Amino acid sequence: MRPLIGLSCSSSARPSRNAPRFYIKQSYCHALHLAGGAPVLIPSLDDEQALLSIYARLDGLLLSGGGDIAPEHFGQARLVKLSEVDLPRDRAELFLTRQAVKDGLPVFAICRGVQALNVALGGTLYQDIPAQLPMAQRHRFYPGYARNYIGHQVWVQPASQLASIVGAGHLPVNSFHHQAVKDVAPTLRVASTAPDGVIEALEGQDASFVLGVQWHPEDLVEDDPRMLRLFEAFVTAARHFSQRR
Ligand code: MN
Repeated sequence: MRPLIGLSCSSSARPSRNAPRFYIKQSYCHALHLAGGAPVLIPSLDDEQALLSIYARLDGLLLSGGGDIAPEHFGQARLVKLSEVDLPRDRAELFLTRQAVKDGLPVFAICRGVQALNVALGGTLYQDIPAQLPMAQRHRFYPGYARNYIGHQVWVQPASQLASIVGAGHLPVNSFHHQAVKDVAPTLRVASTAPDGVIEALEGQDASFVLGVQWHPEDLVEDDPRMLRLFEAFVTAARHFSQRR
């Protein structure tokens, strides 16, 4: 049996659309499938008992990319114009992430996901890099760029769990974000930064698989074998979790 990996979803709930949907980019599912996992989508239900019923069957949790996390979740007022905010999604992801970390269920968090992971565990965010970090380099190559466009390099910290998967040192990545991790949650540590110091990856500090990256490895698996290895390491951890139960 393949490990069952739950993925959080985006919502199209804008009033102008009369048939709101939960949706996700296919490349997350393809990358997980290629890595040996069985992906399943988790709708952003505003019902913790229903979410727990889904969660109880999962072997891993993937926090996917999307719009902005509402700043009230990390104790800030809305300072800048945010892109799409999705409160039911925020609540579902924060709830599931706290549950997963408590239980040692493997968590792999991508782009918005690393921000959700950090906020769930008590960290904060820059709401807008250009407004709050004007000296930072460009991190949002969107719209108008291919999903595998290399926006910048990151530095992978030696002796990190991330380095054990992709190697230490320079790694070219895509970049589609305008928010970033600010204060790191107490139980996480920085595994990678961009040349301007912006945090590009966080990981847990114990034996559980808890990894978040600010780039989009699911859109680079055909360009760089290290990106597929991220999904393989996650799926392997999910398989071990399922065997321990
Ligand atoms: Mn970046």
